Amino acid sequence: MRRLAAAFESGAKAPHSKGVCYDAFVPRILVTNDDGIYSEGLRKLADALRPQGEVIIVAPDREQSAASHALTLNRPLRLLQLEENEWIVDGTPTDCVNLAVLKLMKDKRPDIVVSGINFGPNLGDDVTYSGTISAAFEGALLNIPSVAFSALVGEHFSFDRCAELAAQLTRLVLEDRNPEIVLNVNFPVAEFNGVKVTRLGKRVYSEGVIERLDPRGRKYYWIGGDPPTWRPGEGTDFEAVQGGYVSITPLHLDLTHHQSIPRLKYLEETLGHATRKA
Ligand code: MN
Repeated sequence: MRRLAAAFESGAKAPHSKGVCYDAFVPRILVTNDDGIYSEGLRKLADALRPQGEVIIVAPDREQSAASHALTLNRPLRLLQLEENEWIVDGTPTDCVNLAVLKLMKDKRPDIVVSGINFGPNLGDDVTYSGTISAAFEGALLNIPSVAFSALVGEHFSFDRCAELAAQLTRLVLEDRNPEIVLNVNFPVAEFNGVKVTRLGKRVYSEGVIERLDPRGRKYYWIGGDPPTWRPGEGTDFEAVQGGYVSITPLHLDLTHHQSIPRLKYLEETLGHATRKA
């Protein structure tokens, strides 16, 4: 561990030095999610991480799944303490990370932001909707290494199994410390066959928006009725979890499509004429 080594070099005394206080590096781990403070996945993750450092939970007071990267700017936010190191926010996952880092923990920022474990997958194109992943992105925007954990659910599914591996990966991310990359981790339903580093898969969108009538005879709509299906693709996150592997996809915030820059250069000339003063 680099930081532990650095602590020794900067004059910290070794643990066996008699009578001298050993000031080891104890990481501060911010835990959040989008399923809300009462979700089992959050509890199991926080419990698994406690042996590794100081765990601080700041989570939404209710479910905020598919909240994406929304930040609340048009109403006041409340921060309520439930226990020591445990807070709720009446806002989105992004609000939680913001308030945690910039207010609650501003004097001693977290060393890592850990989001999850989400009840249900966050694969492929769905990452843009995900509140779980957006919380991790918010951590990255604030220059903190961040990881998002999601679990496929079904028969033989176990949050305990997922939390144990999540804790192991968190320890490695704390050593690696790269705030530019967010790791998006998805756990398969049953026992793990292994771990695969993957790319995002492609979702096949069902065309269906369900239209119904409410009890007063007015139409209402329900988005996302059918379970998602996926285009098969080698090396994708979807393929990995289908095969029983834990999927780890490195994500970054730069949405630029770099390959298109040369192809679109002609716009500078073509449209540029219109912008130039005569
Ligand atoms: Mn969720």
